[in-house]
Amino acid sequence: MSRGKKLLILDIILALAVAGVYFGMKFVRNEEPDAYEVANSIESGADEVREVDSAAAKELKAKELGAWYLILVNPDKAMPDDMEVKTAGTESGYEVDARVKEPLEEMLKDCRDAGHSPQIISAFRTRATQKFLYDRTANKNDTAKPGHSEHECGLAIDIIDSSSAGWADPLIDKQEELPAQKWLMENCQNYGFILRYPKDKEDVTQIIYEPWHYRYVGKEHAAKIMESGVCLEEYLEELKGE
Ligand SMILES: [Zn+2]
Repeated sequence: MSRGKKLLILDIILALAVAGVYFGMKFVRNEEPDAYEVANSIESGADEVREVDSAAAKELKAKELGAWYLILVNPDKAMPDDMEVKTAGTESGYEVDARVKEPLEEMLKDCRDAGHSPQIISAFRTRATQKFLYDRTANKNDTAKPGHSEHECGLAIDIIDSSSAGWADPLIDKQEELPAQKWLMENCQNYGFILRYPKDKEDVTQIIYEPWHYRYVGKEHAAKIMESGVCLEEYLEELKGE
């Protein structure tokens, strides 16, 4: 190596050493940033956390709103055509969405243990059954159009007090006075069900008061809905707007 090259390398080493000392000093000087800088960095950090938090919350909410148990099916909103319902058999030969079988059976068992006699009279309906019922109904407001019934989703169950099974039509307001029905209306939320068509919400649901139609929405939502007295349509609007 020539002397010139050696000097050049020495120069570079020296320059690096000087730079190291300079930046090192700067680092030491900045080791204790002033309060303003600290506050600023904490603030911007908190902003980031808040942004991440609210993004996560939004994502969580969107996911929850799209959950199978919160699906909205009503006179204005049909169930998706490609929606597949995996059913499971329950008592009296009825079928429900397989995920609803357990809470339903638990609710019926507890209702019976309390001394009552609930009886399922309708549960999952195929599109063909819904069409048959709709075509046969004189007053088209009494039966949901095919594709617009929660029964087709397997999430709705009509339950009466068995003492009314012999009535000409057990699906009348008087159903609410029967002991099994009273128990169900009081306790359904503990199993994830709501009374879907409340008395004072007919203008929102567009469905008459049905003190026999229970709909699964999951325990958390059922408790909120039954407690606040809103119907599912109103509840979902609130949830979206939160
Ligand atoms: Zn029903």
